[in-house]
Amino acid sequence: MNDPIPFIDLQAQRRRIETQIDSAIARVLAHGSYILGPEVAELERLLAEFAGVKHAITCSSGTDALLLPLMAWGIGPGDAVFVPAFTFVATAEAVALVGATPVFVDVLADTFNMDPASLEKAIEALAGGELRPKAIIPVDLFGQPADYDRIIPIAERFGLKLLADTAQGFGASLHGKRTGGFGHMAAASFFPAKPLGCYGDGGAVFTNSDDEAELLRSLLNHGQGRDRYQNVRIGINGRLDTLQAAILIEKLKIFDDEIEARGRIAERYSRSLGEVARVPILIPGARSVWAQYTLRIPHRDAVAARLRDRGIPTAIYYPIPLNRQEGYRHFPTVPGGLPVSDDLAQEVVSLPMHPYLQSPIQDRIINAVSEASS
Ligand SMILES: *Cc1c(COP(=O)(O)O)cnc(C)c1O
Repeated sequence: MNDPIPFIDLQAQRRRIETQIDSAIARVLAHGSYILGPEVAELERLLAEFAGVKHAITCSSGTDALLLPLMAWGIGPGDAVFVPAFTFVATAEAVALVGATPVFVDVLADTFNMDPASLEKAIEALAGGELRPKAIIPVDLFGQPADYDRIIPIAERFGLKLLADTAQGFGASLHGKRTGGFGHMAAASFFPAKPLGCYGDGGAVFTNSDDEAELLRSLLNHGQGRDRYQNVRIGINGRLDTLQAAILIEKLKIFDDEIEARGRIAERYSRSLGEVARVPILIPGARSVWAQYTLRIPHRDAVAARLRDRGIPTAIYYPIPLNRQEGYRHFPTVPGGLPVSDDLAQEVVSLPMHPYLQSPIQDRIINAVSEASS
């Protein structure tokens, strides 16, 4: 009864498609084209079709998927890029890596996503200053699309690039349109624990622009020109391995089914836990992929400790807003600070979530959370 439950059970998925994955890996080992083999182009075609975007450019991680668009746009020193403070570090890291300045914006208490009003305030606060506003990186945190209905018009009004960080949200949609299709470019991650994960690191950039697609491909391949040994710009080694592409092709086939399952599990959590905690809220028209199922509970640490005693793991995403991280606290924030990010860091707790979470196990989690928080 108190057997430990895994936070994410990747082995359950592996059991389901073991034969397909093993054959896909064997095919790559047989043809031996480990770098930019045929599976990479095939996966890119499938990803673009899935997302409803003209080009998917695969790369070595979600972090590189954020870095490459910033490099493609020539964003660098003196440029400001607006990012939420309540996110995984890579969102701001990519900005700092190109020498630009991340400006931290607050999030909304109910959706955990970028607050459009805070974004506007942060942009306006830079008027007449030394930093040039250049881009916005909204995050589809925990799998829910950011409020693109409100953020896109702000980007247009101020003439800013929009790079969607859909590392956690790939597969989600807003008004029936999949993430990957919002903004000028979008970045996805295939880190193993993301909703669509490979067996190592991987990522992809999405764009509808032919020119940008070509530029991204050059950048992730050492700034390669038309010829292989011609280097027309400074790039990186940012390619996705053929093996990971082969694995992702198999996983993409069951992804829609897994998204459905995640949705059912999240709904059941929300139905059962609404009385004891603040359950996650979706904006109208949003369909989440539930990368995380995250509650807000006062005395979160005590609740998490009680759950741990009963074999139920939880995770805190994120315990420290980025503007308070040692490596990032010298960067500017929206005037007035980030009160919502600070509150969330104290109150959030994520429950086990994956498409193969069985009902009896889920009941055990629900009962334990209800008891621990009352
Ligand atoms: C995971 C994640 C990334 C980075 O992806 P990697 O593939 O781990 O490099 C970026 N942004 C967010 C919001 C993430 O959750």
